[in-house]
Amino acid sequence: MRVRVTLEIEMKSAMSVGAGQLTESLVDKSIAKDVTRWPVIPASTVKGMLRSQCERLARSLGLHVCHAPKPASMCLGERRCIICALFGSPWHESKVVFSDLVLSEPRRVAPESLVVVRPGIAVSRRRRTVEEGRLFFTETVIGGLVFRGEIYAELDESEGGVSAEEASLDKRLGLLLFGLQTLAGFGGKGSSGLGWCAVTYKVYKDGVEIVDEELARILEEWQ
Ligand SMILES: [Zn+2]
Repeated sequence: MRVRVTLEIEMKSAMSVGAGQLTESLVDKSIAKDVTRWPVIPASTVKGMLRSQCERLARSLGLHVCHAPKPASMCLGERRCIICALFGSPWHESKVVFSDLVLSEPRRVAPESLVVVRPGIAVSRRRRTVEEGRLFFTETVIGGLVFRGEIYAELDESEGGVSAEEASLDKRLGLLLFGLQTLAGFGGKGSSGLGWCAVTYKVYKDGVEIVDEELARILEEWQ
């Protein structure tokens, strides 16, 4: 089964999806940007968010799920949990591939006008205390922007390693779509007020768009 999902994320608040690497910028945490300096949500960020959301859902359904991202506590060998079967592990390739999410708006302004630097006070993660006198600067992207991207999945019935119950392709697709539906935040931590978003998507199964009724049926597979 070949699945293509077109994804649209509307940011309801400002967000700070980090570049994940040191940049030349003067701020402490820079946002991810493309080569022409427009903000992007990197494919790896989308994948990570969706994977952890699907892990949470799978556990709530009582399924066995290994503990990513530490390789030592993840599925090893031929048997694998439904999450590794979808998103891969250090030993198995991912069946789901993501594009970066890029701005959908016409770009009439300078990219810098979409970025706001917010000061904060650095908090020691370990001790959960404020580090005295230490200001922390975070780049954020203004709210209200819409990002678009795609997800591709190649789901194969004959794939070994998962239990019979988890082998159903519609069930695996359903878990993926449940994960998307329940995705509510990007690039922010709950208490910061950053990163709230609305997710909309269209799903194409072997090139044909899935209508609402079939989508509902696929999602019900797990209930
Ligand atoms: Zn696993």
